[in-house]
Amino acid sequence: MIPMTMEYLEHCFNRAKELDQSLVAVKVEMKGFPSEEIIVNPIINVDSKLEYYKSVYDEDLNHKYAEGIRIVDFSFGNSMSEIGINMIVDGLGKSVMETIESDGANNKSKSVADYYLNNFRVTSSFGEKIHPVTGEKSLHNGVNLANNKAGDPVKAIVSGKVITAAYSKTAGNWVVVQQDDGTVAKYMHMLKSPQVEQGQRVNAGQQVGQVGNTGTATGNHLHLEIERDGLALNPIQYLWYLSEETVKDMANVEIK
Ligand SMILES: [Zn+2]
Repeated sequence: MIPMTMEYLEHCFNRAKELDQSLVAVKVEMKGFPSEEIIVNPIINVDSKLEYYKSVYDEDLNHKYAEGIRIVDFSFGNSMSEIGINMIVDGLGKSVMETIESDGANNKSKSVADYYLNNFRVTSSFGEKIHPVTGEKSLHNGVNLANNKAGDPVKAIVSGKVITAAYSKTAGNWVVVQQDDGTVAKYMHMLKSPQVEQGQRVNAGQQVGQVGNTGTATGNHLHLEIERDGLALNPIQYLWYLSEETVKDMANVEIK
């Protein structure tokens, strides 16, 4: 589990600033109240909010002056839906960093993250989509990364074990890796049969396939999903954490 401490909350809010996010949020639990409350603040207020939380809450995020009130989660994002979905992302970021630093694979995963962030553009971002004609809402569980040509290497982001390497009508040629940081990465629509087999280990940077157009896809692109505990995370934020670079606006670019 993610440690719920003031040190950690501060880390999260500082990351929000570095990544040029527009909103920060905390989730507060109040004893006796049926639901938790999410308090959202614009980034311009982040320093004063942090000062306030530090004066009112203790190291373990319990309210110092009102019993039964505590902060149980915190997050950042550029929209309300991102915040809702990404309540655990900063925790993920830290656990990912620790895993990578401890197993010495840091440079490998950073360079793979840079590979995706620098060579591809986001043709469909993560999160809620509204159909232009029907107005219906749906959730895009991953990001579409494209650079207009087929055959570019699809590289494993973090080392792990291949749990699926197969063909499906919708995902096309696809590979799923149970990554050593506790997350799951899914790579879809690849050109040819996967270059890895179910059950085998892969290293960060190892090629698992090529960008393609198989399954339900309207053009050559990699559909990338990152999950933790069955919950879809924003893959771009995940890549940012690995890259430790600020790629402004990328998550919000829509190219149709
Ligand atoms: Zn997609």
